[in-house]
Amino acid sequence: MGRKFFVGGNFKMNGTIKSIKEIVHNLSTSKLDPDTEVVIAPPSLYLLLARGHLSPNIEVAAQNVFDKPHGAFTGEISVSQLKDSNITWTLLGHSERRTILREQDDFVATKTKAALDGGIGVILCCGESLEEREQGVTTDVVTRQLQAVNKTIGKDGWKNVVIAYEPIWAIGTGKVATTEQAQEVHAAIRKWISEAVSSEVAEQTRIIYGGSVNEKNCRELAKQTDVDGFLVGGASLKPEFVQIINAKA
Ligand code: PEP
Repeated sequence: MGRKFFVGGNFKMNGTIKSIKEIVHNLSTSKLDPDTEVVIAPPSLYLLLARGHLSPNIEVAAQNVFDKPHGAFTGEISVSQLKDSNITWTLLGHSERRTILREQDDFVATKTKAALDGGIGVILCCGESLEEREQGVTTDVVTRQLQAVNKTIGKDGWKNVVIAYEPIWAIGTGKVATTEQAQEVHAAIRKWISEAVSSEVAEQTRIIYGGSVNEKNCRELAKQTDVDGFLVGGASLKPEFVQIINAKA
């Protein structure tokens, strides 16, 4: 079976009750490609609002989750709380959390394991900085980030993980990776999965691209063999998100 195209919208720390209701209404009433899985990730305060107003064919993701089940962890949200609220996915390892909040590979890995063990799907972000790209270590960086997770989740965990390759230099900068750059890294990630996990897992795992995707560049990117969808930041807050979701239609 082929890999189902997957488009996620990362709202980051943006939105209000009013604007999120508008975005959700627009998505719920637009014609979306039924062959594409759509997940939106509003700020945690608005997860339930989004879930309550969205049509059921669209899923909701948290932007982060903690690795402990409950207790004295001020400011954090647990996997079981997401489950309880019908939030079925979480982003993890976004570069803004890795850089600004100093999240390390091992912490991303333990949170990934906790989410998967609790029945939540993970959109696992990885990607290199501009400096790392210029040093020629992109594949090393990305596979190091993925290997930390591989050590904790094992072969079976990958079926509920979508890998988001997001070069840091392309996030929110308007500098999208070329189709060749994206395809090259996606192919390298798939090769790594094949060697480090298994060829079946490599064939089944969706690898999506994130970094300044918009309605103009999405169609060419979507044609690449190893690009199985997108993680969209800024443009997911705009009506053009619908065109991005329908990039394959
Ligand atoms: C992101 O934050 O995951 C992202 C890809 O942002 P943008 O589309 O705005 O570059």
